[in-house]
Amino acid sequence: MKIVLASNNKHKIQELQSILARELGDGLEILSLSDIGFEGDIIEDGSTFEENAMIKARAVSALGYIGVGDDSGLSVDALDGAPGIYSARYAGDHDDAKNNAKLLREMENITDRGGAFVCAIACSFPEGSGKEDFCVRGEARGVIAREESGEGGFGYDPLFYVPAFDKTFAQMSAEEKNSISHRGAALSKFAQKIKEIYGDK
Ligand code: IMP
Repeated sequence: MKIVLASNNKHKIQELQSILARELGDGLEILSLSDIGFEGDIIEDGSTFEENAMIKARAVSALGYIGVGDDSGLSVDALDGAPGIYSARYAGDHDDAKNNAKLLREMENITDRGGAFVCAIACSFPEGSGKEDFCVRGEARGVIAREESGEGGFGYDPLFYVPAFDKTFAQMSAEEKNSISHRGAALSKFAQKIKEIYGDK
């Protein structure tokens, strides 16, 4: 079976391949947009993580493939969910240091520091397949720290403090982060759904 992830990010392709292989065994191939010769832009103009993930998945299923799309970001309670779907470009361009500096500025006088990383993964099937599109969501709750700590990870990881570990995401090993992350949670729900749909094949 071939599944196309609406991305060219090699790390994401491998990650999906290995989690689905664990659930469904071999015989499953994850392709990227460039593998299928897709060169267009997908306009992510949804207003939620789920909508954007589904827009990407449907851009691929419209071409006759099983399409998977993902969208993720940081949602801060006291900022009404910001940076949210705009996480990558919160400070204007895709620059982690500027994004983190802006988040610290916006939260300077805020004592309610709760927030969550969110990851939505959508799956869309080609017309006539008889299968229903679906979307799963994973979340990881934490606290927005007052200064950056840790060298690992990417994006907002140095500011995302998890009390149960007494560490930020940037201070965790990849295994620790995967065990509690929004992406880890969404990926295992996703694998479970795919197993329900195809597991008996
Ligand atoms: P994407 O949808 O996976 O490309 O993520 C969009 C943006 O959300 C990233 O550029 C980061 O700013 C932020 N983000 C998503 N997941 C994480 C994470 O695990 N750690 C830190 N930042 C993240």
